[in-house]
Amino acid sequence: MNTHNIRFFLAMTTLFFAGCVTTAPQKKQQTAQTPEAPTSESTKAEEIDTVEATPWESAEALSAYCQEALTTITNTRTQLKSGNAEVDLLDTYNNMLIAIDRSMGWASLLANVSPEESVRKAAEKCKQLVADESTKISLDHKLYGVMSKVDTADLDAAGQRFVEHLLRDFRRSGVDQKEATRNRIAKIKADLVKLSQDFSRNVRSDVRKMTITDLSKLDGLPADWIKAHTSKDGKSVTVSTDYPDFYPFQTYCKDEALRKTLYQKFQSRGNPDNKKVLEQVLNLRFELAQLLGHKHWGAYNAGDKMVKNSDVIEKFIKEFSELVKPFAKKDIQGLLARKQKDDKSAKEVQAWDRFFYKTVVRKERFGLNPQELRPYFAYNQVRKGIFSVYSELFGISFKALPTEPVWHKSVEAFEMYLGEELVGKFFLDMHPRKDKFKHAAMFGIQTGLRSGQIPMASLVCNFPNPNENNGLMEHTQVTTYFHEFGHLIHHLMARSHKWVSQGGITTEWDFVEAPSQILEEWAWAPDVLAKFAKHVETGKPIPADLVQKLRKSEDFGKAAWVMRQVFYTAYSYFLHAQDPKKMDLDTFTNSIYKKHSLYPRVPESTVYTNFGHLMGYSSIYYTYMWSLVIAKDLFTRFESDGMMNKAVAKDYRQLILEPGGSRDASDLVRSFLGRDYNMDAFKIWLQGK
Ligand SMILES: [Zn+2]
Repeated sequence: MNTHNIRFFLAMTTLFFAGCVTTAPQKKQQTAQTPEAPTSESTKAEEIDTVEATPWESAEALSAYCQEALTTITNTRTQLKSGNAEVDLLDTYNNMLIAIDRSMGWASLLANVSPEESVRKAAEKCKQLVADESTKISLDHKLYGVMSKVDTADLDAAGQRFVEHLLRDFRRSGVDQKEATRNRIAKIKADLVKLSQDFSRNVRSDVRKMTITDLSKLDGLPADWIKAHTSKDGKSVTVSTDYPDFYPFQTYCKDEALRKTLYQKFQSRGNPDNKKVLEQVLNLRFELAQLLGHKHWGAYNAGDKMVKNSDVIEKFIKEFSELVKPFAKKDIQGLLARKQKDDKSAKEVQAWDRFFYKTVVRKERFGLNPQELRPYFAYNQVRKGIFSVYSELFGISFKALPTEPVWHKSVEAFEMYLGEELVGKFFLDMHPRKDKFKHAAMFGIQTGLRSGQIPMASLVCNFPNPNENNGLMEHTQVTTYFHEFGHLIHHLMARSHKWVSQGGITTEWDFVEAPSQILEEWAWAPDVLAKFAKHVETGKPIPADLVQKLRKSEDFGKAAWVMRQVFYTAYSYFLHAQDPKKMDLDTFTNSIYKKHSLYPRVPESTVYTNFGHLMGYSSIYYTYMWSLVIAKDLFTRFESDGMMNKAVAKDYRQLILEPGGSRDASDLVRSFLGRDYNMDAFKIWLQGK
């Protein structure tokens, strides 16, 4: 679960400020430049005084922004039901969704990134209010009646699809139910929004630490990492559960007891508070699904995905697990054999061994020492490299906006151009800090529209800070960067649709991780790495043989990684495929470990209190592996014609990214591949080179 993206689980996800979308498409004002390093804090502070108020400046600014959107939403809903023949129902409805899109976009982002508690609280409140309005819309029987009568005969395919999905979402929300049921549904949805916020907040604020005074126990960890974590008096090292601490520690620390302690802390985040929160969430989701005529939440939630129904998910989990398990077991045997060299009595590989021994085996079998890679992946160098790879591949350019006001001094703002066209704007909020979102995600802020509204988004990650020993990254973090940038470019490129529910990453949710996972391939390509992976001190490009070792070493451990994804997939789905009142979370957790994990459950750990996807993705974590199969197939065209082949990249942009949610994902894939996708490419990858 290294990566994911955020989407809103609302029947209607999206919003609009009248006026903003009527402007002509914005054109580039000056030649795009290579992005510059961020300016100092003081320069930015001066600039902030001179620009318009932005929603993140204060709780008051955000609340005012939110209130304006709410007024637009309620007025538009009233207008739609007025019976006024001059109101264009579809355009007006679209405007209402645009207003939801924008206010939800900012609120979701700021609830997770604002350094100010008052702003985070205002953002959470805004999300609750807008979600309540969305629910009211989705359960408004009169409005449904009005929209059902829209004459679609003269609409183009996109317009027909807009209406079809709009009416489908009404029905899925329960608009046909009796009033008492609809009232209960509204209450459940409102409670779910708040509980989901509680869960996320509890994980975000629960950073656990351990302090090590016997520094000899840090044997194995990179010198640059130790230096960045040593106390001022040089006597101790403090390690937290934040990613830039957790992953290097698990990968390199030779002391098993310390790895175990940190792992337990990591998998205990959110405990005990989130156990109760999750139980309430599961009960409410189950009740909601049953009110809507489904056997459980897993079944309900599958209805608007590529899979269409949950039987397909169950079949996928079973078959995928059977396919992967033999390969994964081989990986585990390799890990155990190596562990037994250190500890003859070892009988199994523990979760806190998996990163460490994978690294050891890769070193011994393939000669790969990942610490040799780190100096080639300084954060700033990687960022520049990713920009240049994407620029070359898609013919785009980036312009830094050093004076753009941002919510924290470490955040950078950019514009992206395609030729002369301003495609969109984005922010990079890439380093950990107190009370910030703990994972890696792309947050869509607003959706690009044909009428002129440019798309905006932010990447929110937890990569090492370049101000701390250059922020040397692990290769897995570089891969994550490519992944999240894949989401970003998808959101920005699907920018020219009339209907907001077809712009950005509004494709079926189980396809969303394909455009991100395919881009991970570029983080493994020798030609690509040679372009940007330069030594932080000497500036020399990464040696070709080191890249070869990296690529060969991928073959060991990837099946075990996929199996771990199967574990999370099964966990997320089956947790929602039963009556939660008859389930005990710990018993359930043990059963999923038994069936789908190659590692025993970590003692005293509570995966269910910190598995963040249980809120946003709920039952559909399968989307990662489902999308990975598609991504591997999409990649075959690049594999045969060249990774930097501009014609293939153009096809990819035009046939996969730009259509957004205007067509079914399976149609997009077929148009790019010239056939239906299949599992062949995934199987070849799994079996190794
Ligand atoms: Zn993702």
